[in-house]
Amino acid sequence: MQEIAPYVPGKSIEAVKKEYKLDEVLRLASNENQLGPSPKAQEAMQQALLDGHLYPDASTTALREKLAELYEVRPEQVMTGNGADNVISLVISSYINEGDEVLYCSPTFPAYCSSTLLMGGTPVEVPLTDEVIFDLDALQAKITDKTKLIFVCNPNNPTGTIVEAERLKQFVKEVPDHVTVVLDEAYIEYVREESYVTGIDLFHEGYDIITIRTFSKFYSLAGLRVGYAIASEAILEPVLRIREPFACNRIAVAGAVATLDDIEFTEEHFKMNEVGKQFLTKEMTKLGFTVIPSATNFLFVDVKRDANQLFGDLLQRGVIVRPCTGWGYGEHVRISIGTKEQNDLLINTLKTIL
Ligand SMILES: *Cc1c(COP(=O)(O)O)cnc(C)c1O
Repeated sequence: MQEIAPYVPGKSIEAVKKEYKLDEVLRLASNENQLGPSPKAQEAMQQALLDGHLYPDASTTALREKLAELYEVRPEQVMTGNGADNVISLVISSYINEGDEVLYCSPTFPAYCSSTLLMGGTPVEVPLTDEVIFDLDALQAKITDKTKLIFVCNPNNPTGTIVEAERLKQFVKEVPDHVTVVLDEAYIEYVREESYVTGIDLFHEGYDIITIRTFSKFYSLAGLRVGYAIASEAILEPVLRIREPFACNRIAVAGAVATLDDIEFTEEHFKMNEVGKQFLTKEMTKLGFTVIPSATNFLFVDVKRDANQLFGDLLQRGVIVRPCTGWGYGEHVRISIGTKEQNDLLINTLKTIL
């Protein structure tokens, strides 16, 4: 327990309003979808609220069937949880014993480390490549008899980068049988380039891997908490033994099912994000920053100055971003892409500060 650093979330809007006596605060720090929940999800969630006194369906059949249809897998190959965070922790809790090694690159999503430590496992971290991409060669070189799980965050948080399709395929193929690869694809819905492969594609090709996804980012339900894993029945069996029966609440499940049907909403969000990404990249480059090409709804930006200082200057003016100092990048910030108005506000505030 002593080794586990508590998770530090991005500052809340309420806390910043109070601290700096501001009426308006913009948070571009947690990679949320700024359009709010889809209209169809809102309607479905309002309906579900009326049954709030009834326990939800423990096996979340409606959502698993919907996802199974969408990804052409069996419903038994889908496991839902209270956010991807919960799913990550369940996978690690069910597979890791004392002394087992869990491999991943750093910096990345912090849950792989904390859940491993909690189980008495050994987190083994290797740096990202110079292009801040998950280093599959380095991971492969670190595999030992004790390695049990390898997490590949693809695209990676906080860098927004994605591994090349052929390299990932080869990696999954070459990993020894005693190791299971877990792909954390929290941002995969934003990726539409040619050269990438998803965990679900690889699963269809017969590789026994685990893919973890979420409704928090692209599908705009971060406050509701729904995530899921797709894997073989055999892989999910031990995980399901320890999954709390009512991990997904009724309102969240209704919202998730309805969002999957709201193509108009998700396409609008996708376009907004693409336009915002181009705009912010162009404007921040003009300000002298270096923006790492991103496959997600956030940007990893080299601001060429103290990231904490810039974070503080933005905070005072009511804009919250994420300094990457804690990840070992003292001159980088992670900025979530917002609506046109929000992106304009960010750029104007940066201009004022600089
Ligand atoms: C946001 C995020 C998660 C967690 O998502 P929740 O479903 O909100 O718990 C997991 N992995 C990565 C890489 C993330 O960025």
